[in-house]
Amino acid sequence: MHAKDENRVGKFDMAIPVLLWLFLIICCIIFLIYRIQKNTKENNDYYYSAAKQNQFTVKSKIEGDIQLLKVIAAGFSGMDSDHARQLPEIIGRMNLSMKGMKIKYSEKLDWSRLDREASYFDVLIRGKNNQPLGYLYTGDAENLMNQFMNTQTLAGAGICAVFDNRGSLVAASDDRDAADWNNIRNEIYNMITSNQKTSSKLNLIENEREFAVLIPLEYNDWYLLNVFPESGLKGRYMETAVGIGIMILISSGLFFAFFYKQYRTITANQKTLVNIAYTDSLTRSRNFHAFKKEAERILRTADLKSYAVWYCDIKKFKFINDVLGYEEGDRILIEIAGLLQKCSGQNSLFCRVSADNFVGLYQYESRMELKNCFQKLIEDFRLKELSYNKRIATELCMGVYFLEEEDRNVSIDTIVNRANIAQKYIKNLPGNQFGIYNKEMWDKVVDESEMESEMEGAIERQEFRIFIQPKVSIQMNNEIVGGEVLVRWENPRKGTILPGQFIPIMERDEKIIMLDRYMFERSCQWFHRYLKSGSKPINLAVNVSKVGILRDDFVDYYGSIKEKYEIPDGLLELEFTETVMLTDDSVFNSLVARLHEKGFICSLDDFGAGYSSLNLLKNLSIDIVKLDIMFFRKSSDIRRERIVISNIIHMAKELHIKAIAEGVEFTETVDFLKSAGCDIIQGYVFARPMPLEDFERLLGETVSLAPKDDNKVVNICTEK
Ligand code: C2E
Ligand code: MG
Ligand code: MG
Repeated sequence: MHAKDENRVGKFDMAIPVLLWLFLIICCIIFLIYRIQKNTKENNDYYYSAAKQNQFTVKSKIEGDIQLLKVIAAGFSGMDSDHARQLPEIIGRMNLSMKGMKIKYSEKLDWSRLDREASYFDVLIRGKNNQPLGYLYTGDAENLMNQFMNTQTLAGAGICAVFDNRGSLVAASDDRDAADWNNIRNEIYNMITSNQKTSSKLNLIENEREFAVLIPLEYNDWYLLNVFPESGLKGRYMETAVGIGIMILISSGLFFAFFYKQYRTITANQKTLVNIAYTDSLTRSRNFHAFKKEAERILRTADLKSYAVWYCDIKKFKFINDVLGYEEGDRILIEIAGLLQKCSGQNSLFCRVSADNFVGLYQYESRMELKNCFQKLIEDFRLKELSYNKRIATELCMGVYFLEEEDRNVSIDTIVNRANIAQKYIKNLPGNQFGIYNKEMWDKVVDESEMESEMEGAIERQEFRIFIQPKVSIQMNNEIVGGEVLVRWENPRKGTILPGQFIPIMERDEKIIMLDRYMFERSCQWFHRYLKSGSKPINLAVNVSKVGILRDDFVDYYGSIKEKYEIPDGLLELEFTETVMLTDDSVFNSLVARLHEKGFICSLDDFGAGYSSLNLLKNLSIDIVKLDIMFFRKSSDIRRERIVISNIIHMAKELHIKAIAEGVEFTETVDFLKSAGCDIIQGYVFARPMPLEDFERLLGETVSLAPKDDNKVVNICTEK
């Protein structure tokens, strides 16, 4: 898919064996050509020597015939002229008994009368006194030649012919038409005059390539033509050539079969590698690398104003993994990837960036489209989870960056980062969240990252201070019965920073555990001193981050510190946020049981802020429920609000759970809560969180506090 580069490498790899194969084939062909040339030369030599052999044979026969004529002529020598008159008759009788050669006699050789071609040699007979009596010569020489030429070694396969020096045929080993010989007369004449010994242009043998050798017969200015069919000898090396050819074919076939198999394997491997490189192994959708490439490609030519990049995170996913298990976490991720796939349009795409973070590019017509899409995602996910009979604890949070034309040269990483910033900005708000990137978000991120770097070593530098907000028992004359330990960061650069600003950051990398333990130990140190001084025992509550309770040594650590500072049972309270409901009830309850054994009080903080369900009260074995500040914000329908609050308090009482109202700011709320049976109030209406020393002083000076609407003047030492 996106692997042009990789493919190029692959093609280059494949080219090497092909080049090797080509090299081998070229070597084979060169060898074959070399063999053919060598064989051709060998054949030519062979033809030439065969022609020489023929020349020798023909010449020997002619000489033999001449010898015979000479012997006969010698027999007649010394004859007188009277007897010589009987010679024609004697010779006639001799011819009758001779096979093949016919001897003729003539007193004179009159070439105008005798057929020159027919008498190819003659011998003089000398009579008495050496007087010439006449000539013996062979008649029908052509026939005679034919006869002995038929006995040539290549008689069956080739042709032999004798030509005179003008190119006229004297005799031939086969009886073809005179016209055929005439056709080649010029060619033969040319060969004779140009001293050309070989030719393959005579075309004397039908349907065959031939090779002709013309050599002087060394007799009578005659020439002997030998025509050989090439098939005879070529057959020898043709076998070799065909053999080599077949071997080339077979080896090529094998090579290509092997090559094809290799190619298939390599392409399959490449595909797998590309898949690995571009696919998210869990969700099987594209990975971030592939997403960036694809998004860059789309945005390069797109109208940026119709595109948005979103960044979606599953809230508290680490918690889901830790508590419900990785299998459940994976299932949720696959589920969400499937739903996102359904939402993706033609020019829209998405991927999983890491863990529970998804990022996507979305093409829209109106900006609302994206929000609707997010709503649909949440709804589809809810239905999906219901179909699995799962408790819906998963919430999504999506940050969006709408691209502008000026983002043309901005990298995709930066754009994704902006969407991520928008997502982070809203992440800590309760419930499913959808947020659009703006400058304020950017500033906050910069601020947070500065804070994050300053956090390093802040504990050692003792920059974290203990503040305590008093808890007042409204059923017992507003007596101060305890306090909640709240951390404040005295930052040298920024002054006092509230926990809401740095705790979420610390929770990201578990620094919060160090801080919680530090705050707990410092509180116990003070509490120990306070109690030792004989002061009135109070209840002291400390906050415990959800991250901390997952530590195996959680109970042991808190138990050991409590023991170390000899804090009596029933005075220390640990506040858990209601996110613990994501935990399996039984896991949390066994934790609470162990804490109870160690003498701790356990409370559920921020009840009603996020995930609350009334069921929770029934299932968790906690001692105190702290109604969230949200309950006491002025609502539009105060009557309904109060019905809810009083029923929760009532239900808690029935379950023997104490109810504490948090964030109460108005005296009238105090009155209502008192009548509703609420035990304790922690709110500005009585006191703001104050430094530890102030709290101690307050305890020494005051037993009870009066509620005041103008909460700022409760204590001079409280925060503004
Ligand atoms: P929380 O545990 O629910 O603490 C109560 C918060 O409500 C405190 O905010 C307190 O100042 C605020 N509050 C109390 N009464 C009123 C009121 O009448 N009006 C308004 N507007 N606010 C009121 P704070 O101190 O900013 O702490 C915020 C949260 O930070 C705490 O909520 C707690 O969850 C967390 N936190 C504070 N200290 C620690 C700590 O040492 N460890 C951990 N893990 N969390 C801490
Ligand atoms: Mg608290
Ligand atoms: Mg609270």
